[in-house]
Amino acid sequence: MARILVGIEPRHADNSPCGHAVKPSGKPRDPNSGCSGRTAFAVVCSEHGDVGSLHHVKAVAEPAARTHRDEHRTALATH
Ligand SMILES: [Zn+2]
Ligand SMILES: [Zn+2]
Repeated sequence: MARILVGIEPRHADNSPCGHAVKPSGKPRDPNSGCSGRTAFAVVCSEHGDVGSLHHVKAVAEPAARTHRDEHRTALATH
């Protein structure tokens, strides 16, 4: 069985992944990078894809990712 990974992926306003370097404000560090700015964080599971809705701050996405990870741990424990 594949290991399940749950991570946090930054997203632009159009929901495309943001891999750009950004300032703490979410604005792109390099104005020429084509980055429209980071507006949301998605919890992404290797098994389920996007989990729940988008979070506007990383501090909220982190506990959501932890909760989902715990759900998998609980599911495995019952097998
Ligand atoms: Zn970006
Ligand atoms: Zn999952």
